[in-house]
Amino acid sequence: MSDVYDSPRWREKMGAPTETLTRIGVQYCVDGVSISSRRPAAGSFKPWQLLNLSLAPWLRYKTRHMLVQMLIPAELKSSAAAKYYDWAAEYEMNDLHLRGVSGVRVLLYGVTLDAPGRRELLNMQTVSAFFPCPHCLHTAQPGRGKQCFGGYRRFLDVGSPWRQRRFVYEGYTYEFRDDERRAPPVVRTDNNVNTMVRLAITRNRPVCGHKGQPFLHKWSAADWDRSMCDWMHDMKCMCEMLLKGLVGKGNNGMYKNWSKDQAHRQDCFIFEVFANWHEGSLPPWRLSQEAVRILDMRVRRMWWPHYMDILSKDGHSFWTHSDRIYKCANKFYVLMVLLPTCLHGFVPAVHKAILLICNALRHLDGQVFSAAESARRGVLPGSHTIPKQSILYWGKQLVRGLVLLEGSFPVSLLNPNMHHLVHYAQQTALAGLLRWVAMWSFERHNKQLKTLIRNPQQALATLANNIHMNIAIRQMSYEERSPDNFEESRPSCYLNGRNKSYALSQQEKFRLGMLGIHCLDEVRGFDVAYVLGLHFKAGEWGKRRCGSVVVTQRGGCSRYCIVKKFLKVQGQYFARVMWLSTPEYPYDPIRLVVRVRMVRQVEENDPCVIHINTIVPCRVSVLPDTDGIHFFVMRDAGYDRA
Ligand SMILES: [Zn+2]
Repeated sequence: MSDVYDSPRWREKMGAPTETLTRIGVQYCVDGVSISSRRPAAGSFKPWQLLNLSLAPWLRYKTRHMLVQMLIPAELKSSAAAKYYDWAAEYEMNDLHLRGVSGVRVLLYGVTLDAPGRRELLNMQTVSAFFPCPHCLHTAQPGRGKQCFGGYRRFLDVGSPWRQRRFVYEGYTYEFRDDERRAPPVVRTDNNVNTMVRLAITRNRPVCGHKGQPFLHKWSAADWDRSMCDWMHDMKCMCEMLLKGLVGKGNNGMYKNWSKDQAHRQDCFIFEVFANWHEGSLPPWRLSQEAVRILDMRVRRMWWPHYMDILSKDGHSFWTHSDRIYKCANKFYVLMVLLPTCLHGFVPAVHKAILLICNALRHLDGQVFSAAESARRGVLPGSHTIPKQSILYWGKQLVRGLVLLEGSFPVSLLNPNMHHLVHYAQQTALAGLLRWVAMWSFERHNKQLKTLIRNPQQALATLANNIHMNIAIRQMSYEERSPDNFEESRPSCYLNGRNKSYALSQQEKFRLGMLGIHCLDEVRGFDVAYVLGLHFKAGEWGKRRCGSVVVTQRGGCSRYCIVKKFLKVQGQYFARVMWLSTPEYPYDPIRLVVRVRMVRQVEENDPCVIHINTIVPCRVSVLPDTDGIHFFVMRDAGYDRA
């Protein structure tokens, strides 16, 4: 799969491809937005917004192609809010779904929401209730004070040795409070949800988490599978949870008022787990102060690619000052890219769990290919691609990772939202990669909507007027086909910035000859290149902002190299590179932690010039190892092949 169109749900909902446009598929989202971030008392609003999945992927996530259908005042809850959705169904959506406009029907593909929003829209109990999941009938376990949201072993195969109370994996012991005997829970479907909802209405109390009819029940296209997990919020919660548990009480930000160790100690005592955690010593999942200092140092010494936030500032990184990762995107990067490498050598049992989880998540997020390989494989350049047959395997590994985490971390600290991860594989297999429907673009759109508020006293009215105006202007410009709305081409590879004439060495001339370039009259050297939308800058190895490390493919394996200069010869683009050694993978077959070193002796076979089309579109950050020779390299998309 390399786009939503390849997914089974798209085929089922939208039907076979047609010559002319007969329907468009839309993804909805609703989320609370505060009117003024400085004055929370000013209130908030909820835009019911959509993106058009039928647009090309490089257009559909741009805020100027997204639409707001309704504005709902945030103070309206349950039936008061539901009437907006009923009205939309009766007077707009059902007609658009069945008949459409000029023969083009509008079909609802899915709805992406954060956990509280999903609960409200589905009319279910909160995420911390006894039935914490909108996708299955999994139940929370009673804890000492409140409920615990573990129970991941339920999703293992029946009879798996990992369902036991205690098991050893790669030398580390993972402990639980009991043997797991429950079978995997039943999945919620349209049929059983209908029954539960009807029971809830007749009994006038929640049944299996359902309180009543979901808000979209009058929409003709709204089946139960429409609700998709939101990858962005889940990863944010997970990152916060892990950092709090690992670092414990600190002096700043979210670490400041954190003191749950006493409660966790009592849990461990009562449930008879981690019996060797002695009074006064650190919990087994905790980093010592010295370890936190080393990890802090590691992040501070990192080299970061361009156009991303450096997660350390004023001599402190996110390990001690959580405000360095106040954005969701920062937390996402910490979890998916930094934690696996950064924790190298510390808290081995938890680290193993994180490695398994992140590895599975990275695979479920798809592989990225260079422009040349995308063309060879026939996939859209720059897209994330996943082989359908591998999804089930990675789903199982994800569950195994979660089980390891549950067995090495305080179970009462596990965030109820983490449960969504067990459904990632099933949802990816059904509706495509979760990144295609994640809330990133909706949140960006929310931010832009806030700028349309002119008068905070009458925020909703001015906002509604301005949205109207905005849509009218857009419609006019679409009709006039103004170039800025249509002349966005698909991502490509090109060089940019100042260029100078470049004198080629003999070796470079020879190599260019091998690449089919024989006329070497006009060679220009560039510093900046854009590879399928990503920025790279030559000659920055060793600097704190280092955009010079690229990943490419050689002999079927992923290899890292340093770009010295980008070259333009005969209208074609090349990179003059220095190769780093063949990567070592300390946790092979998990290839998230990658160690390379500089190569002194240039190997004869290593080409000194590569075509820019063979560079994989992912940014690479670098963590120098303490020995001064080795470097850990961390790519932010895809995974290494060896
Ligand atoms: Zn579930």
